Amino acid sequence: MEFIAFTYVGNFVNDGVMKEVVFDVFDGANRFFEENNLPLRFLYIGKLKLEPGYLINIYSGEEKIKAYPVEVLVEVLHAKLLGEIEEKPDIRMNRIFALTTFPLVSRNPYFDFYEKFLGVQETLVGLRVMLLSMKPFEPPELSELIKTVQRGSASPAERALLREKLELFKNRLLKGVLHEVGHGFDLGHCTNDCVMNPPSSMGEWDSRMLGYCDSCFINLKRALEWSERNRRE
Ligand SMILES: [Zn+2]
Ligand SMILES: [Zn+2]
Repeated sequence: MEFIAFTYVGNFVNDGVMKEVVFDVFDGANRFFEENNLPLRFLYIGKLKLEPGYLINIYSGEEKIKAYPVEVLVEVLHAKLLGEIEEKPDIRMNRIFALTTFPLVSRNPYFDFYEKFLGVQETLVGLRVMLLSMKPFEPPELSELIKTVQRGSASPAERALLREKLELFKNRLLKGVLHEVGHGFDLGHCTNDCVMNPPSSMGEWDSRMLGYCDSCFINLKRALEWSERNRRE
């Protein structure tokens, strides 16, 4: 069995609800691996704490958002993974995955602006760091609905709508997680009904099957077997 260290980063405005989203996605991914006989599991290693000093302000139009530069996150996650490997030498784990609540940004090396990313992957001395921002997957009505329900002023219809939007959010995220996991094992993009086929819109992403097409599935399975064989030798 191969493990991927799993963590999340960020401050949730609606902490309880968002934590539920993170852990449902975590469980959903592990259930997917299990049901599909993939010798792969996420291992939760706790929430990642970051020094607030790294936070930068980004202005996009009228809006001011706070974010951590990708470079900082990758470094912190790499160090965290090294610590986990040292603590658990008997399990195979050379990848770390983090869900972030804020956008992923990096300073463009040529121009003075920050670029936004949905997902980021980086390999440092044989260790893979994977990042996925939750924000782009969030249905726009969600945070207002959460506030209404938390205020106690929600109608049954609004409560039902919140449940529906939360399910949609989790489903989108789980597909995103499987997409990044695919990249984590060197899968490229494909053009089939598959999580490895990047969408041009969220609507397209919603209509996509939750899973890998046959050819991506075989490639992922092979990559996992390869890594298992390398360990034995
Ligand atoms: Zn991709
Ligand atoms: Zn595919």
